[in-house]
Amino acid sequence: MFFRKKKKPPPKVKSKLNVPEDFWVKCPSCGVILPNPDLVANAKVCPKCGHHFRMGAYEYANLLFDNGIEREIGANLETVNLLNFPNYTEKIAKYERIHNLKDSSVAGIGRIHGRKVIGFFTDFAFLGGSMGSVFGEKFYRAAKESRSKKLPLIAVLFSGGGARMHEGIFSLMQMVKTTVGVLELERRGVPYITVLGNPTMGGVMASFAALGDVIIAEPDALIGFAGPRVIKQTIGQDLPPGFQRSEFQLKHGQVDMVVDRRNMKRTIHRLLEIMEASL
Ligand SMILES: [Zn+2]
Repeated sequence: MFFRKKKKPPPKVKSKLNVPEDFWVKCPSCGVILPNPDLVANAKVCPKCGHHFRMGAYEYANLLFDNGIEREIGANLETVNLLNFPNYTEKIAKYERIHNLKDSSVAGIGRIHGRKVIGFFTDFAFLGGSMGSVFGEKFYRAAKESRSKKLPLIAVLFSGGGARMHEGIFSLMQMVKTTVGVLELERRGVPYITVLGNPTMGGVMASFAALGDVIIAEPDALIGFAGPRVIKQTIGQDLPPGFQRSEFQLKHGQVDMVVDRRNMKRTIHRLLEIMEASL
């Protein structure tokens, strides 16, 4: 009689999308079970199938920058419930308590292989990485400092919701504000690179995310304005395989490169060398 070797009981996994705090993590793509420290050491990329797990804003800053964020920009900015949107104040307090984030965005100065840059990172854990007034102001301040100090600006985005509905028109106005920030950078010839993570959607994609001198996407990230479900319902047709994924967007000219996160730092460094040599 054949006896299978008794396997360890399957670990508890909180969510298929977010990396749980537990020691064991299950890859939502290939199902392999990994120790969390191994996943973190591999830039949160599944070593078996290459699935890119979502990363937090500070996590990504630590991955990209030699010593993380050396000085934050706009760290004192706090979200105000301007429209008295129901439960918004409580939600902000909750996300701050759970994730230790005041907003869905973090900006600051850091170094990539010794080269000083300014980074802007969004965090999906805080209201889907959506764009509100604080987000827009932080981005604008980051762009302003980038312009005045002639330091390249790198924006790394994990933003599913686009403009944050809780702030209504004030959120939509950030599309203009962030775009102006990028245009002012462009006039001074300061390099601006965007890294689109999974997902980068809505008002974020329809403004500053799509304006990078070089637009890099992480593999298999969902990138677009309206999501595939909404488009399918609207046009009443099936969508092609891989619709709105990074590789699809690369093929259709919406992004410039698809880069494995494990190569992101050296790719950005190389791009900056090329861009600065051509200035
Ligand atoms: Zn996997």
